[in-house]
Amino acid sequence: MKNEGWVYKAMRPMTFAPEFYGDPPNQKVYRWRVLTEAIHELGHARGLHHCEYPGCVMYFSNWIGDTDRKGPEFCYRCRKRIERLVGEQRQAE
Ligand SMILES: [Zn+2]
Ligand SMILES: [Zn+2]
Repeated sequence: MKNEGWVYKAMRPMTFAPEFYGDPPNQKVYRWRVLTEAIHELGHARGLHHCEYPGCVMYFSNWIGDTDRKGPEFCYRCRKRIERLVGEQRQAE
């Protein structure tokens, strides 16, 4: 791989396959990343914004390492927020 490899990766934060990053293929890692970012997008769809807490699923991933670190869990604040938002959306339906 060339020197600009790292930049190349960073510009494609939504590529989940470990082999893309020079790691061995790993279905578990792949699914973990897909799940994490799917929940992140779901959070947006429900009205959540980005979270400043790096361990929260709503943290913005600058690169795949952020996705691996945060995982698919909401932090306490985001969980409370989404419970309220989903509750309001149910009432409106
Ligand atoms: Zn986002
Ligand atoms: Zn959060």
